[in-house]
Amino acid sequence: MALRKILTEGDEQLLKHSRKVEKFDARLHTLLDDMRDTLTNSGGVGLAAPQVGVLRRVVVLLDINTEPEEMVELVNPEVIETRGAQRVVEGCLSVPGVYGYVTRPTWAKIRAQDRDGNWFEREGEGIVAQCFCHETEHLDGHLFTEKVEEYVDPEDLEQDDEDGAE
Ligand code: ZN
Repeated sequence: MALRKILTEGDEQLLKHSRKVEKFDARLHTLLDDMRDTLTNSGGVGLAAPQVGVLRRVVVLLDINTEPEEMVELVNPEVIETRGAQRVVEGCLSVPGVYGYVTRPTWAKIRAQDRDGNWFEREGEGIVAQCFCHETEHLDGHLFTEKVEEYVDPEDLEQDDEDGAE
């Protein structure tokens, strides 16, 4: 298991634009494997490559709407369709201990490549739609704090952990 260090707010890598992946090689596979381990270890629901200091358009996220939960790898992802709006509490592994209300679509469809370069589409509802948006924004150097409408005291959050850090 190879864990990568998760950068936190204040690190300028988090504000940069990530480049498209062109080579679906062993190096990409190692990055994806390490990101899977790092996400699992963090207890979060999503992780984008710039959060571990790699400026490539790569994301791993946990689809909690599948049974069992599925870890999804997204290379060069793009949100291509959204529906609805939900006001939800959000957090981020790169902004530890900070939570706030943001408005996200209730449903989203993403288009991405897998680790071998094959294109696919995937739909997500609720927290998965939220995660699609949050993670792809990381690839353009944006943090969720830009969208926060109201900050929340973490101690006021319920203990059901529905609002995982991304
Ligand atoms: Zn995040």
